[in-house]
Amino acid sequence: MSNVFETVIGLEVHIELLTQTKMYCSCKNTFGETENTVVCPVCAGYPGTLPAVNKRAAELAVRAGLAFNCNINRRFKMSRKNYFYPDLPKGYQISQLYAPICKNGFLEIKGKKYPISDIHLEEDAGKLCGNGVDFNRCGIPLIELVTEPCFHSASEAVDFLKELRLNMIYLGISDCRIEQGSMRCDINVSVHRRGEPLGERCELKNVSGFSNVFGGIMYEEERQKKIISEGNRVFRETRRWDPVKKESALLRSKEDTADYRYFDDPDLPEIILTEEFVNGVLTELPMLPNKKRLYYTALGISGQAAEDIILDPIKDRIFRLCVDVNLCGANVLSGLINGAASEFLNEKPNYLNEKNINGFCLALSKIGRLREKGVVSSTSAKLLFENHILSGSDIDTLLKELKLEQVSDSDYTEELVRRVLTDNGKSAEDYVKGKTNALAFLVGQCMKLSGGRADPVLCRELLLKRIDAGDV
Ligand code: ADP
Ligand code: MG
Ligand code: ZN
Repeated sequence: MSNVFETVIGLEVHIELLTQTKMYCSCKNTFGETENTVVCPVCAGYPGTLPAVNKRAAELAVRAGLAFNCNINRRFKMSRKNYFYPDLPKGYQISQLYAPICKNGFLEIKGKKYPISDIHLEEDAGKLCGNGVDFNRCGIPLIELVTEPCFHSASEAVDFLKELRLNMIYLGISDCRIEQGSMRCDINVSVHRRGEPLGERCELKNVSGFSNVFGGIMYEEERQKKIISEGNRVFRETRRWDPVKKESALLRSKEDTADYRYFDDPDLPEIILTEEFVNGVLTELPMLPNKKRLYYTALGISGQAAEDIILDPIKDRIFRLCVDVNLCGANVLSGLINGAASEFLNEKPNYLNEKNINGFCLALSKIGRLREKGVVSSTSAKLLFENHILSGSDIDTLLKELKLEQVSDSDYTEELVRRVLTDNGKSAEDYVKGKTNALAFLVGQCMKLSGGRADPVLCRELLLKRIDAGDV
């Protein structure tokens, strides 16, 4: 009997959709309103009301399916999933069981394909709160995305969720605001001895936040390994992850599909998606992260620089706009966007809007061009950019006024290097002894002394020449 344990994890991810209205009524789909102010007889479950399926929600579900290479079910019915809980005023949730809208897809991460068994449409339930139940969330459209039991560690599951979230944001399907609960998941974890069949699984219900997912899985793995090592059996259970105590606790022994008494909702007709509808969604698919990674690196930027851009949709938009402006190469652009622009936006997170974003990108592109031609150093480019954005003054005028033009004059640079070496003899010795980063420090000193105007490449060259000549 092997003593090596293996862990298997499958995820059921709930994602709230960015629609105007709720899933089956015309209440607004919003967050953060006063409790029980966004409800109507339909989503409050009054008898005698009739639901109608939100077309936009179906469209977003199809968009997710196409993005993740699923087969799209062109005819389906919505089913009632019956259970009794105070957050569910109808006593059932209108969901899908027999024919989910999308089936058998995958999401590829770093060359590995993670299979998605289905994506189905459903509605959210209310939320228990201090005074009872807040029904505002009742009927908010959701997709539930179910993966195969295909992950083998907490970090693998978290990486999948991060990549899924990024895709959802680029797809415009959801904002996946974890702190607002618009992306939550049920985590199925089982443990078995190597070489043996998969173990019985436990489900951690409704976990949100990557660190909770990580912590929950790590805890559950250890808990189950201990049970098995002691010769006992793991029973199928639904458990709750307590993020404060950092432990999971029994919620209920797992219910079966049969417990939910699923049946087709008699109030809703069969839904038929026409080929035109599905093709329309397909043609509108935006470029997704995996494609962006290939495309951006093919434009000549490093994998890391591309990742830094793609992980931040605002930077990504800036990059795309600048590439369209086409005044300088992608490499210089990515440097400016991950450097100067990023620092600027960190300080002024509300600066950008639809009116000024084009001007912002044009300025970056013009400065990128100056960088490329060697007119400004990266330090000066940053100063120039900030000054231009804040004052609105012309870039060429600022270049002269602020004396930011790079000086590549060799006499000037020789003198600079001489002075830096005189003042920092110790660093030059360190470099000779093998401390390579001492050279970067010396170049930095030249830049500092020149007020950012020196040409760092020339400085480096002349520094090396002097050091090699033993001239320190
Ligand atoms: P059910 O019908 O009981 O809900 P599903 O087949 O729909 O079961 O699976 C629900 C989730 O549990 C899926 O995410 C799946 O990947 C996961 N799962 C199934 N078997 C295992 C297992 N042995 N270990 C971990 N996760 C599992
Ligand atoms: Mg299930
Ligand atoms: Zn309503």
